[in-house]
Formats: sequence, C-alpha cells, structure tokens
Amino acid sequence: MRIDLHLHSTASDGCLSPSALVCAARTGGLHVIALTDHDTAAGVEEGSDAGVGSIHVIPGIEVSTTHDCGDVHVLGYFIDPKHERIRAYMRDAEERRRERMRTMLGKLDEMGVNVPWEDVLAAAGPSARVIGRPHLARALIVRGYAQTHAEAFDRYIGDHGPAYMPVDLVTPREAIELIHDAGGIAVWAHPRFESFKRDLSRFVEWGLDGVECYRPRCDPSESLHLESETRRIGLLTTGGSDWHGSWHGKLGAFSVTEEEGGAFLERGGI
Ligand code: AMP
Ligand code: MN
Ligand code: MN
Ligand code: MN
Repeated sequence: MRIDLHLHSTASDGCLSPSALVCAARTGGLHVIALTDHDTAAGVEEGSDAGVGSIHVIPGIEVSTTHDCGDVHVLGYFIDPKHERIRAYMRDAEERRRERMRTMLGKLDEMGVNVPWEDVLAAAGPSARVIGRPHLARALIVRGYAQTHAEAFDRYIGDHGPAYMPVDLVTPREAIELIHDAGGIAVWAHPRFESFKRDLSRFVEWGLDGVECYRPRCDPSESLHLESETRRIGLLTTGGSDWHGSWHGKLGAFSVTEEEGGAFLERGGI
C-alpha cells in the first residue's frame, strides 16, 4: 500500500483542483491520500467524491498556528468538514488571511513594490478559499518583481523577508482542541528539529496524537530520529509529500509505507 498524507489543492495554495489531484494521485500509484489544505476543508467533499471506488481520500486540514512567535502547522485528519467549529474556524481564517495579505501589500507598497489586491486574487484563482503567500509570489512574478517563487520569497515574503507578516490565527493548543472537537486526529506537520526537541512534551500534554516523520527533502537521519522519539512516547507516525504542484516532482514519487503509517490508518478506521 502506498500512502501520502499531506497534499494541497486549489482550495488553498496548490495547483490542481481536488478532483484533478485525486486523479493525479491515482495515476501516480497511490492508494491512500489525505487532502490537507491550509486552514480550509473546502476541497474535501470534491476530493472524496472523486476518490470513490478507486482511492481512499482522508478528509484533512492543515491548521496554521503560532507558537513562541514561530509558525507551527498542525494537521487535522478524519475531521468532519461540516462541523460547526471547523466552519467557524474556516470563516475566521479566510477573513484574517485577507487582512494579513492587505498588510503585506501595504509593506511592499512602502518599498516601491506595487501589487494590486486584484492581482493576488487573480493569482489565487476562483477556487481559493484562503489567500496565502504563494499567491502573492505568483502576482510578484506577473508584475516582474521576481523571476521565480524562490526569488519572491527570498527578496520579499519569506519568513525573514521585509514584507512578511505571520498568519497569527490560533495556538497549537487551540488547533489540537479544534481538531479533536471535530472528531479528528492532530498531527504535528514538518516539525523543525530544534522545536521538536523543545516543544514536543508540551504539545503531548495538549493532546497531540502524532508527528509527521516521513517527508521528501528531509534528511533520513532526521526522519529516523523523529520516528524513534514519536514511537517511544506512544504517538502515531505519519508522513506526506506536502505536494503543491509539479515543481514538487511527480505525485506518487514519494510515499509512506504501511509499516510507517499503518497504526495511524488503523486509528482512523482504515
Ligand atoms: P502562508 O500560509 O500564507 O504563510 O504561506 C505558506 C506557504 O508558502 C507554504 O505552505 C508554502 O506553500 C509556501 N512557502 C513558504 N516558504 C516558501 C519558500 N521559501 N519558497 C517557496 N514557497 C514557500
Ligand atoms: Mn502551502
Ligand atoms: Mn505546512
Ligand atoms: Mn502543507
């Protein structure tokens, strides 16, 4: 069984619609996938429908949280996308991300970099429920302020860039509670090594269920360390490609094995 538990669609900052993503995953030889858009589950229904009879699509969300002034992403799996608290969170995230983007555009404007709001909306496309930095990166390229996404992030909007603003929605603790309330399993996405060592015990106290241990672009020794620590404390191991589009390679080139993700799938009733 080939598994990928971390994928983005056009509902957030991915390049394929949920149904096209499911189709590409099937072509890429995957058997179980999870749709985990940033701060929205708006694509889940379309993705699940597209998978019926051919591929298992786990409903998910990637919640943007702030912890000690840094970004921490918490994946919520097997959530009910229609749960009242999830819907309220999605509405709030949509609004707050728009405000944040307007602030970032203001910062760019002060630097003489003029990107109209409409350009960001056009870059995001009609299906995007949340506006994120990759949409702004596309608009910066269209306006000729950068040649590539990497350059847009390096020069302007990366975590240490002059126009960066944090999303600042909820804390990891609130994200874990939200995910549990909606019937889901909370997993720490792509933990940074230093933060993992420092913060894991606190997140476990707050109810964290698992850790994303297997990723492409992750040092194998780091994956092994994450796996052994996660299993030692009795949490679930998961993994995924965090695929957003073809620049991340071919969907299905990376996958998690049953040995690596089986306990997680079992907990979710698969
Ligand atoms: P946001 O949630 O709006 O802060 O945007 C974060 C997203 O931007 C991530 O999920 C990635 O898709 C993308 N991203 C972050 N850093 C970089 C980078 N250095 N280069 C390209 N894309 C990035
Ligand atoms: Mn993203
Ligand atoms: Mn993330
Ligand atoms: Mn992601």
